[in-house]
Amino acid sequence: MGSSNHDGVAPHHGDATHDVRHWHPATQAVAAGRPPRHQGAPVNPPIVLSSTYVSTGTPGPNELLYTRIDTETWHPFEEAVAALEGAPVPGVVFGSGMAALASVLSQVPDGGTLVVPRHAYQVSLGFAEDLHKRHGVQVIKVDIDDTPAVLSALNGAHMLLIESPTNPMLEVADLPTLIAAAHQAGATVVVDNTFATPLLQQPLSHGADYVVHSATKYLAGHSDVVLGVVCAADHQRRALVHNYRTLHGAIAGPQEVWLALRGLRTLSLRVNAAGANAMVLAQRLAEHPQVAQVRYPGLPQDPGFATASATMSGYGAIIAIQPTGDAHSVDRMINALTLWTPATSLGGVESTLERRRRFTTESLTVPENLIRLSVGIEDVEDLWADLDQALRRITSESA
Ligand SMILES: *Cc1c(COP(=O)(O)O)cnc(C)c1O
Repeated sequence: MGSSNHDGVAPHHGDATHDVRHWHPATQAVAAGRPPRHQGAPVNPPIVLSSTYVSTGTPGPNELLYTRIDTETWHPFEEAVAALEGAPVPGVVFGSGMAALASVLSQVPDGGTLVVPRHAYQVSLGFAEDLHKRHGVQVIKVDIDDTPAVLSALNGAHMLLIESPTNPMLEVADLPTLIAAAHQAGATVVVDNTFATPLLQQPLSHGADYVVHSATKYLAGHSDVVLGVVCAADHQRRALVHNYRTLHGAIAGPQEVWLALRGLRTLSLRVNAAGANAMVLAQRLAEHPQVAQVRYPGLPQDPGFATASATMSGYGAIIAIQPTGDAHSVDRMINALTLWTPATSLGGVESTLERRRRFTTESLTVPENLIRLSVGIEDVEDLWADLDQALRRITSESA
């Protein structure tokens, strides 16, 4: 483990990173990770497709050796995400959001205790379940927006996983309070920031140890890659995650990472446009006769509104609704849409939706007729007209 390539703390190439930190997030998303400027230099980083590097002697501390360990096409994306999250060290990109989560959740020792949200990304909960089965990890599920309940679960915990807003119920966690309490209890805090993006919420600024993203979603933003990234609070934590990546081999392809950086350039435009659309749609859905319940933290009547207003700089673009009909009529309603795409996943420029309980693995505390909407950047009137015509069928069918 002699060279810093192996321990993952090698500084990346760009001196640009230095300046980027002084700029606003929208600028960071555009300017971070650019190649050094000189006459005739490319504006975008090149994609390097090479599994190995010429090595004529003892490798230097920052020398690239082999692409499973490190490759330069990852660096601009790792630098840009770290700048946005306010991380002092570059991010660590992974082949998927789950690989990124696995690198931190695996740090819970055998027989240790992991506190997780009751409602969270299904596969994250599946990973926790696997830690329980194969490593005797005690998994405690909490309602992440019930702060006293989380605090009482932290006693003796090794790690707290926070997802906020949660999938698919849109509960909002009181990040500063939970993170401080977890640290007092000696637990490591991991925040899955996929739904909020670093533009709306920066968990490291509240003291989180790790921020994890499914970059598949908003960071890349075009539903064309599967990727993950971890941002750590310091070199030591980064080294653990980097070492996990090297040992487990869950690496990202250079071309996918380049595409994700290309998508990241417009993060601010996309998050703002989708968030503005979501606010309009949530307000209208709350008034719709065929909608019994809306969850969106940007609505003043939403249980998450106060916490989100205090800890986030926007409310995101995911909405959960329960129409007045049952699961079957909701499925028919979804099939009557022509613009919204019925599909899993979220965070793309196109609007998608799904009834979550169509998956048998979804938590039984998620209502059967709940639809999760991922609002895109289309014209809001087209999105509304399509939703409205499909929702109206719920009455005409049951009448
Ligand atoms: C999609 C998702 C993940 C998993 O990411 P993959 O890229 O699909 O592996 C984790 N957390 C959240 C909140 C997600 O939405």
